[in-house]
Amino acid sequence: MSEPIKTDVLIIGAGPCGLFAVFELGLLDMKTHLVDILDKPGGQCAELYPEKPIYDIPAVPYITGQGLVDALMAQIKPFDPEFHLGEMVQTIERIGDPLFRVTTDTGKVFEAKVVVIGAGGGSFQPKRPPIGGIEAFEDKSVFYAVRQREKFRDKKLLIVGGGDSALDWTLNLHPIASHVTLLHRRDDFRAAPGTVNKMHALVAEKKMDFVVGQVMSLEGEGGQVKVAQVKGAKGEMSSIACDAVLPFFGLTMKLGPVADWGIALENNLIPVDTEKFETSVKGVFAIGDINTYPGKLQLILCGFHEVALMAQQAYHYVYPDKKLTFQYTTSSTSLQKKLGVK
Ligand SMILES: Cc1cc2nc3c(=O)[nH]c(=O)nc-3n(C[C@H](O)[C@H](O)[C@H](O)COP(=O)(O)OP(=O)(O)OC[C@H]3O[C@@H](n4cnc5c(N)ncnc54)[C@H](O)[C@@H]3O)c2cc1C
Repeated sequence: MSEPIKTDVLIIGAGPCGLFAVFELGLLDMKTHLVDILDKPGGQCAELYPEKPIYDIPAVPYITGQGLVDALMAQIKPFDPEFHLGEMVQTIERIGDPLFRVTTDTGKVFEAKVVVIGAGGGSFQPKRPPIGGIEAFEDKSVFYAVRQREKFRDKKLLIVGGGDSALDWTLNLHPIASHVTLLHRRDDFRAAPGTVNKMHALVAEKKMDFVVGQVMSLEGEGGQVKVAQVKGAKGEMSSIACDAVLPFFGLTMKLGPVADWGIALENNLIPVDTEKFETSVKGVFAIGDINTYPGKLQLILCGFHEVALMAQQAYHYVYPDKKLTFQYTTSSTSLQKKLGVK
């Protein structure tokens, strides 16, 4: 286990509510670290609808999902939050009153006075393709995400899928892999047209292969894949030699380890009070889509309100001996100083 990273507040989930929590906590002098299983901040907005417009953010008539994330990232910049992306929080253990030890699936350990759960609908997890026996190859030679690009250097790669992830990784890994084959059910993609054109150009230059078909089975030994048996558009079978298979079939949301954290749950959501948005465990708060209370709406603006109230109570755990004075950003020079206003 690594040395614990000490922080005032650990935020689980870097969705819009987790990001805005950095702002509200930062205004009250609380230092934050964020952990997210995704490789980028923004939660559902960045992962599920980056280009779709949102029309119900107060005072912002129109903004895209990614636009909102970019604006939140700019707003929290003065507080210099530390992001731990591509990591899933696995355990939360109470070790003080309140003090928590939190661990991630990469072995990172945090010690935080307050934990804020902003885990949305749970963790995004890759959809597993319907290939019998694929489990035996997972994390050895079948990967649903690219955490370290270098791992694929000089490898024969079979990338499966027709969305942005499949096309982006095809272009991204092509320069370092010994060979790339992209396999998709049809010659029609859900990815950005520019990326699709670049892939077709590489195929035309004979720098990679594109095959229409579906993987029926994988062959190999000890978790190391050697050959994928593929059924083509007309039902014909062929073999593709490969060292690694990367299926990109989209993401699904699962509650994940949240269920094991010893916090009361109600229909896979975390009940909170509407004064502090605290869970059944003192010092652990839940904000945004993951929480529930009478009248709850899974809207970003509701999550933002919850964050503001949560921060007021979190302050008392982080600074038990200090009095909290309510201030406006328009008139408080001390708040403006924290925001870097000159
Ligand atoms: C298509 C679509 C359109 C929408 N349109 C609107 C709209 O117009 N207006 C509106 O207000 N809302 C809209 N929503 C809903 C809005 O996106 C959500 O309310 C909002 O994203 C919730 O934010 P959040 O921060 O609570 O959670 P999320 O955005 O879900 O983020 C949660 C994050 O937590 C991470 N996470 C979960 N578990 C763990 C773990 N164990 N360890 C580490 N990280 C973890 C996840 O990876 C994720 O990134 C829309 C949703 C969808 C799907």
